[in-house]
Amino acid sequence: MVQIPGQSVSEAEFRQQVRDYCNNELPREVRAKVLANLFLTKEDNLAFLRSLARRGWTAGHWPVAYGGAAWTPLQRFVFEEESMRHGAPWLIPFGINYVGPVIYTFGSEAQKQRFLPPILASKEWWAQGYSEPGAGSDLAGLKTRAVRSGDHYRVSGQKIWTSYVQWADWMFCLVRTSDESRPQQGISFLLIDMKTPGIEVRPIRTMDGCHHVNEVFLDDVKVPLQNLVGEEGKGWTYAKFLLSNERILSAETGRSARQLAHLKSLVATASSQAGTPRPDSAHFEHRIAHLELKLHALRAFCLSYARNMSADGPPGVEASVMKIRGTELQQQIAETTLDWLGAAAVVYDPADVNGAIAHSPVGPADTSGAVREYLHGRASTIYGGSNEIQRNIISKAELGL
Ligand SMILES: Cc1cc2nc3c(=O)[nH]c(=O)nc-3n(C[C@H](O)[C@H](O)[C@H](O)COP(=O)(O)OP(=O)(O)OC[C@H]3O[C@@H](n4cnc5c(N)ncnc54)[C@H](O)[C@@H]3O)c2cc1C
Repeated sequence: MVQIPGQSVSEAEFRQQVRDYCNNELPREVRAKVLANLFLTKEDNLAFLRSLARRGWTAGHWPVAYGGAAWTPLQRFVFEEESMRHGAPWLIPFGINYVGPVIYTFGSEAQKQRFLPPILASKEWWAQGYSEPGAGSDLAGLKTRAVRSGDHYRVSGQKIWTSYVQWADWMFCLVRTSDESRPQQGISFLLIDMKTPGIEVRPIRTMDGCHHVNEVFLDDVKVPLQNLVGEEGKGWTYAKFLLSNERILSAETGRSARQLAHLKSLVATASSQAGTPRPDSAHFEHRIAHLELKLHALRAFCLSYARNMSADGPPGVEASVMKIRGTELQQQIAETTLDWLGAAAVVYDPADVNGAIAHSPVGPADTSGAVREYLHGRASTIYGGSNEIQRNIISKAELGL
């Protein structure tokens, strides 16, 4: 039995509750867009979050004292898997999964009171300002500088690849507050109000033609000292805590299960419409079976890990294994889907994935969404700590290299 405050439910019952939520409470328009792999607007994401709030599931893994449901790692995994499999969006993590836990773990009482309720109520949108030109994998090389001046820091520098900061009210930011011999030591964790003068956001269009990421320029931005989280110079510790939360969710088995089901339905529909299967059907059936086996193996690994993991323990090297296997599988499924769609997938216009209805000028209506999933999915082995970096983590932990 797994515990939810006020009730005891089995894993299977909890899965059923998540499916019921998707079938009955997840806004239909949002679900339809997710199932067709269309680009979601901020309003779509907010509608999803508000529908979760009615069940107290917006931040299920937060402690009850801060408005969560104290989910175990297993419940959290089940929620992520089952909801994504049945058409819920990827829960954009910056407020709920990233900065929220940093604030309730390391923040002051005043920060907890100021920042946690609006995150929980989806009233304030957050972005993550870590990466810089020249400081991605080597994050400790970051150069954005915060200099104390009276009761403020003055922050100058540049962030890049900042996801959805165009929607953000706040950005949590790693900044350099001193130059120590170990670069990790002089870094601090600041909360920056995006309305502060001196901030400029410039969009970057990714190859799916959508607006996910941005550059952020900070020119002498005044940030009150009370927006420093924890101790000055200890930001690296908080950043690592946050990144470990990021990796544990990256297997995304629910997304892979949904995309694989879509591929199977494309193959089945083509076979039934044509009367006779396509000549290459057997080849695709073989590829699909191979992908299914990989998904089963990954799920078994994740479930066993989630069942044994404690809620407050740091994730082990297994989180890196999940990130590598999960993202590679997503890319393989997307690639196989495009191979099946063939020539139709060559025609792609971002306008077809930015609307409310799936549309493709040449192939099945959901072709454009499949192409978008393929194009945007190329980034999944880069963000959240690239897969090469995850391999380094594994080799260091397991082989001592
Ligand atoms: C779609 C998308 C969204 C993102 N969103 C955010 C966000 O919201 N906030 C944020 O702060 N950042 C974000 N990022 C940035 C992301 O975290 C970085 O892109 C990532 O950490 C890699 O850094 P880099 O781009 O500087 O590449 P680099 O670090 O320059 O790496 C280039 C290549 O070299 C490899 N490499 C680097 N070092 C090593 C090594 N030691 N051993 C082996 N191989 C190595 C990498 O794996 C990669 O293949 C996002 C990125 C993308 C693509």
